[in-house]
Amino acid sequence: MINTIKFGGSSLANAMQFQKAKDIITANPARRYVIPSAPGKRNPDDTKVTDLLYTCYARTAAGEDSSSVEALIRGRYQEIIAGLGLALDLSAEMDQIFTNLKNGYGQDYAASRGEYLNGLIMSAYLGFPFVDASEVILFDENGNFLSEETNQALKKRLGSLNTAVIPGFYGSMPDGTVKTFSRGGSDITGSLVARAVNADLYENFTDVSGFLLADPRIVDDPVSIGVITYKELHELARMGACVLHEDAIYPVKEAGIPINIRNTNSPAELGTLITSSAGQQPSHEITGIAGKKGYCTLSVRKAGFDSVQEFENTVLTILEHEKIPCESIPTSPDSISVLVPQKPYYCKEFEILSQVHSALHPDAIYLDSDLALVAIGGRGTQARDHIVKNVFSALAEAHIHIRTIDQGMTDLAMVIGVADCDFEATIRVIYNTFIRDEFVNGASTFKL
Ligand code: ASP
Repeated sequence: MINTIKFGGSSLANAMQFQKAKDIITANPARRYVIPSAPGKRNPDDTKVTDLLYTCYARTAAGEDSSSVEALIRGRYQEIIAGLGLALDLSAEMDQIFTNLKNGYGQDYAASRGEYLNGLIMSAYLGFPFVDASEVILFDENGNFLSEETNQALKKRLGSLNTAVIPGFYGSMPDGTVKTFSRGGSDITGSLVARAVNADLYENFTDVSGFLLADPRIVDDPVSIGVITYKELHELARMGACVLHEDAIYPVKEAGIPINIRNTNSPAELGTLITSSAGQQPSHEITGIAGKKGYCTLSVRKAGFDSVQEFENTVLTILEHEKIPCESIPTSPDSISVLVPQKPYYCKEFEILSQVHSALHPDAIYLDSDLALVAIGGRGTQARDHIVKNVFSALAEAHIHIRTIDQGMTDLAMVIGVADCDFEATIRVIYNTFIRDEFVNGASTFKL
């Protein structure tokens, strides 16, 4: 068995968290390839090392004094090293990093050093060889990620290593310049390493016990789901659920490697397994609730337009030209409604409306603003019908007005639009309808 094991920032925020990570790694000899993030927050008021590094870069680039931030960064790593009792001295490495920043090294270089230094500590602590991600995670000269080249480089480098620590989040371009993925990108590194070593499992250790059915900032102590498919997760992530970086799913999905999301602070819990097919009845009727605020619907009406297709294409082309992404497009023969993110739409509203007017000469244009989208995941059409019926009646009872409905053809049972100000209440009502009721009524209300 080969497991690739990634630890998020909160799992490596201090020496005590490092100890928990080591206990987890050594508890199973299959855990051979370790991907650390940079130290995260030690408490809610703390700052992640990556954020300190971005600040340090910004101050240095602006010619301002960055010594106080440098001291905080040095302090974070020294605290970990001392707490672990390691005979490791990273001061020369850190001197070099801050000198490089003063000599014009870029923002990505600065941000990447959080993982780099944590990787050196993890390697010393575990006694596993350190592999610099710059050697094996490859981008082209324009900063585009090179998937195949990375796979080959990782295979070659890790092929001869029985164990290794590979820092997450960054790689390099052909001239050696460091390039990072977007925020949260250590998840992607973990996935790429898992694919390259043909891992049996990609374990992703974080500070929650798996994929939670709803956002814990909105619902108190939400339950987690046992098994979810890559596709279900992808749909929910697209609608705002966050557990893994979206781009982390593709490499392992392609290779058929399951991802197990687990909790460093509660390692006995099994967490959530993400696989290509769930293969079992879900433990709950719904597979997740996710959502995002800040949407609006733009509706354009023109009676008697000959070609619906042309009508639709014209509106979509204008939006595409103005770089406004569309969420969904309910259309009738003489009108089209497009759901778009409100902020970018408002920035381009005049350009869009004038183009729509001159291209289509519409009878009317309506804008329904301040919408929030809420997606509810559910498996199978039977479950979907039941979910839809229950969502409608629960929201009506709570006097929450549904302003748009999209009954998905995907792995989401449905996506509804409600007023932005009803967003949190909507999620709580839906959660309570499907989850709290299950517990209140005993075994389950999951009867179709
Ligand atoms: N440290 C980086 C961040 O804070 C990457 C990661 O944690 O995955 O975004």
